[in-house]
Amino acid sequence: MSKSIFAESLSRLGTETAFDVLAKARVLEAKGKNIVHLEIGEPDFDTPAFIKEAAIKALWDGYTHYGPAQGLPALREAAASYLTRSRKVQFEPDEMVITPGAKPILFFSIMALVNPGDEVIYPNPGFPIYESMINYVGGVPVPLRLREENQFRADVAELRSKITVRTKLMILNTPQNPTGSVLTKADVEGIAEMVEGRDLMVLCDEVYCQILYEGKFESLASLPGMKEKVILLDGFSKTYAMTGWRLGYAAARKDLVAYISKLMVNSVSCTASFVQMAGAAALNGPQESVGLMVSEFKQRRDLIVAGLNALPGVTCVKPAGAFYVFPNITGTGMSSQELADLMLYEGGVALLAGTCFGAYGEGYLRLSYANSQENIRQALTRMKTTLEKHAGK
Ligand code: PLP
Repeated sequence: MSKSIFAESLSRLGTETAFDVLAKARVLEAKGKNIVHLEIGEPDFDTPAFIKEAAIKALWDGYTHYGPAQGLPALREAAASYLTRSRKVQFEPDEMVITPGAKPILFFSIMALVNPGDEVIYPNPGFPIYESMINYVGGVPVPLRLREENQFRADVAELRSKITVRTKLMILNTPQNPTGSVLTKADVEGIAEMVEGRDLMVLCDEVYCQILYEGKFESLASLPGMKEKVILLDGFSKTYAMTGWRLGYAAARKDLVAYISKLMVNSVSCTASFVQMAGAAALNGPQESVGLMVSEFKQRRDLIVAGLNALPGVTCVKPAGAFYVFPNITGTGMSSQELADLMLYEGGVALLAGTCFGAYGEGYLRLSYANSQENIRQALTRMKTTLEKHAGK
C-alpha cells in the first residue's frame, strides 16, 4: 500500500460539524424539502448600517492595502478602550492583536503556548475547535465536564482537580457555546484563586460577552493579578452580526501578542484593512443595535425553552447567555445523533447532536435560536409531531 501523501498531524485535526449539517440541509432543500435552520451559530440580523457605511468610506479612503500584522492602530486603540471600559482594567493598544475572526486567536494562541505533551483543560461539551487544536499541536486534551445539575457552568472544585504540573493552559468560555451557561462572580473568583501563583495561562473566550439575559458579565481578566495570565478573546461576529466580515481580536501580554503577530505574518499577513476600520466604527459608534438584538434573542430564548420543555422526553435548562439551548433528550430513548438525524431527514429541522461538542454532549441536542420566532414555532411543532410519531417505537 502506498504511503499517504498527507501529514500525519492532519489525522488529529477535528472540525466544526455545524457546517456539515448546514451542507446536508442545503442538499435536502435543493431536492425540495423545507428545513428550519437551527444549526448555525450566527445572528440572523443584518450588520448595522453605520458599520457598513464605515467600511465603504474606508474603501474610498484607501484602506485597500496591507496593514501591520498586529492590526491597524485605529482598531487596536478602539478595542483597548472598549476592553478597559467593559472589563474595568486598563488595556493598551500594544497589548491587542487583530485577526480575521476570533477563531484564529484559538489557533494561534494554542500553537504559541502548547508543546507536545502539555495538558490543556477545556470545557466539554464545548466549542469543538478547542479540542481539535489541542490535539493538532500534540497537546493532551483534559476535558472539564460541564454538568446540567450545575446549569452547565464550570465547577471550580472539579476544575482544580484537573490541574497537574503539566497543565499549560486552561480554556474558559462564558457565555458558553453550546450550553448558554454564564460564569458567576463566585466562579471567576474561585478560578482566580486557583490560577494565582501557578505557571499556567487562561484563554478566556468571551466572544458572547454582550449576549447576556440574566445577571452581570464577569471576566476573569477584571480580577487583580489576572490580566497577565489571561488571553482575552473577543470579536465582532456575534455582537454586531458580522460573521462574514471575519474580524476578531485578543488582548494578551506583549510577548504573546508578538508571537501571535508573527503567526499572522506567516499565514494571512494581516486582517483586511477596510474591515478593521469598520470594526473601529462598530466599537466607537452607537450601541443601540446590540441591545435590540439581545432583547429579541431573549424573547426567542423564552419561547424555545418553554416549547422544548413541552416536548415528550425532553427537558431544557434556561440558559443565561449566548443564543443556544442544550436540551436533555435522554427521555426520548434515542442517542443525540439518532435524534438529530431524525429531526433533519424526517422533521425538517436542522440542529446539532450534543456530541458535536464533545463526548459529554451525549444525551443532548444543541439548537441555535438565531432564527425568527415564527420559524422557531414551526420547528417546535415539527419536533413535536416527529417525536410523537416515534414514541415507543
Ligand atoms: N468562540 C466561540 C465559543 C464561538 O462559538 C465562535 C463561533 O462560533 C468563535 C469563538 C469564533 O467566532 P468568529 O471566528 O466568527 O469570530
